[in-house]
Amino acid sequence: MQKIERDVVVIGAGASGLTAATELRKAGLTVAVLEARDRVGGRLWTDDIDGATLEIGGQWVSPDQDALIETLDDLGLETYERYREGLNVYIGPTGEKRTFEGEIFPVAAQTEQEIVTLIEKLDALVAEIDPDQPWAHPLAKDLDEISFSRWLETQTEDEEARENIGMFIAGAMLTKPAHAFSALQALLMAASAGSFSNLVDADFILDKRVVGGLQQVPLLLAERLGDDVHLNSPVRTLRWGPDGVTAISENVEVSARFAVLAVPPILISRISYEPPLPRRQQQLHQHLSMGFVIKVHAVYSTPFWRTNGLSGTAFSPYELVHEAYDNSYHGDPRGTLVGFVADEAADGVFAVSEEERKQRILESLSHYYGDEALTPEVFYLSDWGSEEWTRGAYAASFDMGGLARYGADLRTPVGPIHFSCSDLAGKGYQHVDGAIRMGIETAAAIVERAGA
Ligand code: FAD
Repeated sequence: MQKIERDVVVIGAGASGLTAATELRKAGLTVAVLEARDRVGGRLWTDDIDGATLEIGGQWVSPDQDALIETLDDLGLETYERYREGLNVYIGPTGEKRTFEGEIFPVAAQTEQEIVTLIEKLDALVAEIDPDQPWAHPLAKDLDEISFSRWLETQTEDEEARENIGMFIAGAMLTKPAHAFSALQALLMAASAGSFSNLVDADFILDKRVVGGLQQVPLLLAERLGDDVHLNSPVRTLRWGPDGVTAISENVEVSARFAVLAVPPILISRISYEPPLPRRQQQLHQHLSMGFVIKVHAVYSTPFWRTNGLSGTAFSPYELVHEAYDNSYHGDPRGTLVGFVADEAADGVFAVSEEERKQRILESLSHYYGDEALTPEVFYLSDWGSEEWTRGAYAASFDMGGLARYGADLRTPVGPIHFSCSDLAGKGYQHVDGAIRMGIETAAAIVERAGA
């Protein structure tokens, strides 16, 4: 067992932990980062699968994500635009395929009006919400007591309008059914991205990608930290008290003045605390759970949809794959589609054989792009639900009522222990930008306490 002493021990080498460690070091403090996996990056993971470079985890950067954009600049990383020329595809409740331009789906005029009105209402509500403290909204408790699906029912009788608006937050973001989270949680999701309109605008929210993959961020940050990053070191025990902490993993033990727990909140309770964490934290962490989505990649010899005049962007709340995009990798002449299968639909395809799962997903893609979509050269499913050190995708959100009840203590430090993760962020919540923001904020709080 290697025993080391540092000013701060950071638990978790995702974007948040590595940012915190980098900032702490810049301020003159010594750090050690303990990472459970045999790689850094957590939910950022770029890999070569059967000769194709794929983003198994997070990948997109949007123009408002200034903390992430600054980090990309600092690390000298370049970005490129997602392909978006041509027509988008929408499939309605009867299975009819229609093409369209812009953000509003080609639905009946009455439904379109309902969608526009709902977006306006949501934008107005979101403008009142501070993403850093949604619980402070005067109606926070009421909004947290009603599920997003029920709230939508109180706004419009048009089912197709509700399904479409629900999809943007449920399947596409929180990756839970719209009956499983509150209207307040939905508003936080939109407020964290600036507005509801931003979430609906795929050209905004899914704007750029990073040459070499987004995992370059944690990889390069870790490279700078050098030997202070310890892989294969899951922290099992954290002793803490007024004088500091001792983080104990299988092969390294770090004594430090402060700890940064930079892990998804659902994994906080996998560590044994001596003494136990206070009642408030023990309670609040039980009210957060991971969403679940399968990210599917299909690589073809050519981006055939482009020649058919399609952008690759496709949506349908009625399809197994509820959204899909052109995800062709920079410089690769082949065409790649990425699609998403969320929450209960994801449970459904994991209940059938691997072969049937693949077939059902490819069939759904073929409804958007035609039969050519049925025969990719490479097919890959990101299965984050099976990853012991993540346990779902994309991130964690509160159960009904949890955000108003516990939110204010989400980021409150416990003695020498600070919490840092994208899932705890306000602006940039559930995104890499939020992970980096939290890393910066957490480091600043520790630097202040340390008097460094
Ligand atoms: P994590 O990346 O989860 O890092 C936590 C780290 O802690 C992990 O490395 C884990 O192994 C480690 N750990 C856990 N427990 C312990 C322990 N006991 N001891 C030591 N180490 C431990 N975001 C975007 O901005 N754009 C996107 O396009 C996007 N798409 C996504 C697609 C998918 C499929 C997924 C899964 C996520 C996506 N996200 C996206 C979200 C984004 O990836 C995350 O919000 C972000 O990477 C989280 O960073 P983090 O450091 O907060 O947490």
